[in-house]
Amino acid sequence: MKITRFIPSVLFGEKCFDDLNQYIDGFYPDKKQYAVYIIDSVHQETGLCERLRPASHDLIMEFNASLHEPKTSDIDAIRDEIIKQKGDELPRVVVGIGGGATMDVAKAVSVMLTNPGSSADYQGWDLVKNRPVPKIAVPTLSGTGAEATRTAVLTGPVKKLGINSDYSIYDAVLMDPELLKTVPADQEFYTGMDNFIHCVESLNGSAMNAMGRPFALQAKVAVENFYLKEKNYAEFMVGSFLGGCSIANSSVGVCHALSYGIAFILGYRHGIANSIVFNHLEEYYGEDVLKFRQIMEKHNMELPAGVTRDVTPEQLDKMIQLTYMLERDLISALGPDFKNILTPEKITRLYEKM
Ligand code: NAD
Ligand code: ZN
Repeated sequence: MKITRFIPSVLFGEKCFDDLNQYIDGFYPDKKQYAVYIIDSVHQETGLCERLRPASHDLIMEFNASLHEPKTSDIDAIRDEIIKQKGDELPRVVVGIGGGATMDVAKAVSVMLTNPGSSADYQGWDLVKNRPVPKIAVPTLSGTGAEATRTAVLTGPVKKLGINSDYSIYDAVLMDPELLKTVPADQEFYTGMDNFIHCVESLNGSAMNAMGRPFALQAKVAVENFYLKEKNYAEFMVGSFLGGCSIANSSVGVCHALSYGIAFILGYRHGIANSIVFNHLEEYYGEDVLKFRQIMEKHNMELPAGVTRDVTPEQLDKMIQLTYMLERDLISALGPDFKNILTPEKITRLYEKM
């Protein structure tokens, strides 16, 4: 039995960020209870922090997504700080404002406010026991789909793996396309391509089904239109949401498996790591790789070259092991026999090209 969960409420529209307080109050009217805002530090500069209208007892916590992707230690530290300031009293809501990283942080914090131990204990599938604090996402960067998925991707002491749970899905999302306009062009491209790649991989995988396909098809069109026709931020933002809905019903594939090592061992961020890999996967995703290059060319994007040049044999071994850890995705992409198709030698040859 496989149940799909969707976000029960979406507030969408230009400038709807100004309705955030009203949106929160509509769901969680007890204003005596505090709210926690977890916001990407970049919004000190974009002006979005100033547009927040917190009550005097609300907490604003910053997450600096420019430094690194979320770690389990970041989550535990934010949770501890909230408890230090507020004791046993729980917030009425946690609001996550930012890109995939910050939205994942807020998801995980909402879970960790009601579950004991470290967030590292919950990396995996359906390990969360207690109902979390309610949460609202406000994406300011589109592509990961984190606003719609049940995953909060975290790097822990031993693994980079999500908290995957019905408790780590947002209760509501506020989508204001205007918020995307301050994103630098290269970042917009890498995160947008993450959505495109999710769609290409899932549509080509056997794990896809009739429930997920329409979301992926439409999300892919949204990204293509944005880069090849007209920069319509509303469609692009909705595309990310739909991409998230699709991923819940399918798997990623060869690109995400290979990019795992590029991210974890070489330290590249999720979106850029996927772009570096996808550019060399013509053999698996033919026409879509050509389309990806067409988009790159049109927008004068250049990918880093020679990223694997200084990889040691030990690192390469580890990167191969990491690739195989995405077993479920590789089965969807290549079948149960995937290790005989994507052999260690084959992986090495692909990495050498990057
Ligand atoms: P990000 O959140 O890491 O942000 C990238 C950069 O963009 C940061 O420097 C950030 O400060 C900046 N930024 C964000 N919004 C901005 C704005 N409006 N104006 C200017 N700058 C802005 O990037 P991302 O690509 O959205 O997210 C990547 C993360 O998402 C990774 O940690 C990855 O593991 C995770 N992820 C999660 C899911 C999921 O389903 N939960 C899916 C894919 C990826
Ligand atoms: Zn991705």
